[in-house]
Amino acid sequence: MPIQQSIPATLIPGDGIGPEIVDATLKVLDALGAPFQWDQRVAGLEGVKTAADPLPPDTIASIRRTRLALKGPLETPSGGGYRSSNVRLREEFKLFANLRPARTLIPGGRFDNIDLVVVRENLEGLYIGHEHYIQIDADPHAVAMATGVNTRQGSRRLLEFAFDHAVATGRKKVAIVHKANIMKALTGIFLETGLELYERKYRGKFALDTVIIDACAMKLVLNPWQFDVLVTTNLFGDILSDLVAGLVGGLGMTPGANIGLDAAIFEAVHGSAPDIAGKGIANPTAILLAAAMMLEHCKLPELAVRLREALHQTLNIDNIRTGDLGGRASSAEFTNALVGRIANA
Ligand code: NAD
Repeated sequence: MPIQQSIPATLIPGDGIGPEIVDATLKVLDALGAPFQWDQRVAGLEGVKTAADPLPPDTIASIRRTRLALKGPLETPSGGGYRSSNVRLREEFKLFANLRPARTLIPGGRFDNIDLVVVRENLEGLYIGHEHYIQIDADPHAVAMATGVNTRQGSRRLLEFAFDHAVATGRKKVAIVHKANIMKALTGIFLETGLELYERKYRGKFALDTVIIDACAMKLVLNPWQFDVLVTTNLFGDILSDLVAGLVGGLGMTPGANIGLDAAIFEAVHGSAPDIAGKGIANPTAILLAAAMMLEHCKLPELAVRLREALHQTLNIDNIRTGDLGGRASSAEFTNALVGRIANA
């Protein structure tokens, strides 16, 4: 067997349950023999506590060097005027694509056999933070305004990423989700760029559909199986990716990847769950699925397959589940079972 070269990667355990679920993930990746060489750094609340900065310069420098990170959830300290470390990371490394697959892992839920991917534009649109108020008489907040910005270039690189992802993963259909009937310029540019790109480069490789965001939300609840890949602008993508997470049992089961030209950062979609932090009962499934995406990103798909298969066996055959999934296993019991499945595969 060829000797696998080690892959430098930044590890940010994060806040709340972050260190617990990241620790579980390291055990599982070790059992798989994943060749990551970790450079552990802090961010979020832990960054403020230990380095007086929610995104310390040496954390940024580490990711600049490795171009790859696995990240636990980060809390943005309230007060003190701190900006979200997650938003800063996206901007710093121009992580323009947010990739969120939603796949049924535990059968028998309200929706079964879901296999969807939402690709969200991560840097533009209404999330650029150009907001202000206009005072009228004594009311300083009488009028609130926000400016959205979508560029041709930003739309094209995201759409190209989504279309390439569809082709590379053998997807049959892509839907461009928009609101170009009302926001003719802001989301019209995204729709128009997508249609033009499809005609020029992708026709025949998959079927392309276009759907208005409000209708899309309804269709996803009535018949989610009619969709395959959904690609959309920032705000719509934020909402839709939580909607599809709900179709597969909630945020605890959903991984996310933030991908740019300079780096890729993998994470669970859920937050730091301060209500259960330190109790040893957190479910590490979402960040384990993010680790599987990271393995695929590093061209180690066979390890990703083994990880997902072991998760399926532990959850559905051994019936070992944490409390949020109706089970009684601690995080450690769940992790040990998973490691056992990997070792005995
Ligand atoms: P949350 O996702 O942390 O928790 C929501 C509920 O889900 C809680 O009851 C929690 O116990 C439960 N939960 C979440 N993950 C779980 C897991 N793996 N296992 C078992 N139960 C789990 O959302 P929140 O309470 O709104 O946010 C808490 C903090 O996390 C906030 O500071 C928020 O800003 C931050 N946050 C960070 C990220 C990120 O870094 N990507 C994402 C979302 C929220």
